[in-house]
Amino acid sequence: MVADRRYTSRMIVRARTVVTMDGAPIENGAVGVSQNRIADVGKFDEIKRRNAGEIIDLGEQALLPGLINAHCHLDYTCLRRKIRPQKSFADWIRAINAEKANLSAKEYLASINEGFAEAKGFGTTTIANLTAFPELISRITPPIRTWWFAELIDVRVPDRANETVDRAVESLKSAPNWGLAPHTLFTASKNLYRRCEEIALREDILLTTHLAESLEELEMFRDASGPLYEFLKDIGRSMDDCGNGTPLERFLTIRDSSASLRSARNDNNWLLAHLNEVTDSDFDLLENSERRFHVVHSPRSHDYFKHSRFPFEKLRTLGFNICLGTDSLASNEDLSLFPEMRAFQNESPDVPPQEILQMVTVNPARALRQQNALGRIRRGCRADLISIPCDGTGDVFEEIIAFEKPVDWMLLDGKEKRNTPHAAKLWK
Ligand SMILES: [Zn+2]
Repeated sequence: MVADRRYTSRMIVRARTVVTMDGAPIENGAVGVSQNRIADVGKFDEIKRRNAGEIIDLGEQALLPGLINAHCHLDYTCLRRKIRPQKSFADWIRAINAEKANLSAKEYLASINEGFAEAKGFGTTTIANLTAFPELISRITPPIRTWWFAELIDVRVPDRANETVDRAVESLKSAPNWGLAPHTLFTASKNLYRRCEEIALREDILLTTHLAESLEELEMFRDASGPLYEFLKDIGRSMDDCGNGTPLERFLTIRDSSASLRSARNDNNWLLAHLNEVTDSDFDLLENSERRFHVVHSPRSHDYFKHSRFPFEKLRTLGFNICLGTDSLASNEDLSLFPEMRAFQNESPDVPPQEILQMVTVNPARALRQQNALGRIRRGCRADLISIPCDGTGDVFEEIIAFEKPVDWMLLDGKEKRNTPHAAKLWK
């Protein structure tokens, strides 16, 4: 970098440690911000020399990229602590369906807005949010960057797959960032998945789905039996696709049948939520395939359901991009990614804390195709920053993961936000 080069920052943010996620943390570091972009990053002395602008000294804090929640359903923020863990996954679906039947559009709107405020209060600046009500999107102004995914289900109307998808797309188009989420292999038909693939090709968008989440889903597809199989058979789902292999095999078969639709460009456009129940034969299949999907793991929701151990090491060895998400409050306590990182650390204590922080910064940024804009502090990236207390006595990444409160300072798209009343409320 040229020593006398000057940037046009309007703000310089200084902190004890700047955790860029783009190289080693910078002690006594600073970030120059111009409009909504990061203009410069380095040692405070250099940044001061190279940049003009107001200096905000955060003091004994770690400054890091805003966090990215890669899988969430804000629709169900109002269901916090409403559903106890059930004996079976099928029973949980029955329980959430019963709760949903009592909710009005107005209540869903309030639930989504409350969820946004909570996520933001905990330092999340970008969220991948699935909604079952895309028609509500135009009535919501998200306070953080949002990828809206329409959650699509046609289990009761499988002959209307295209119509279900196309109607959602009309609503989604009012959002700057959107994608499609065929809900699961057991609630969305093959034709619905195919239609989503077609739209993804046409519109160059992302896709997400819940896959291989529970043992009951595995039993249903592989063995044509179990509580989920019986539940879906009872509601009239055609079970012709059961008894022929694992959920992952089924998903890859549907993908392959749409292969002629794919271009090299969107081959990597799937974010797969869960992948808890992946068999040895699935891993053989993945090893022999060039597919490398993005995977979202939700450790606390995983614990709530007591699923099989998430096969982190195997998926990582295969080169999958692994991200964390909170999932919904129908199976989680809050929308903070900090306890999510701790829950992951509990199940995988050998994974370095820096790598865990990547799972809520650089990895989801890559999954959202924002690797040059989000998830790291680098010149040219969006100015989404958060700060948390850091006394410099231990490993900064451990300190970040151990953080237990709402975040009281953030820069969101270059705009400074301090200890909002909502954050103060969460604090108590
Ligand atoms: Zn989910």
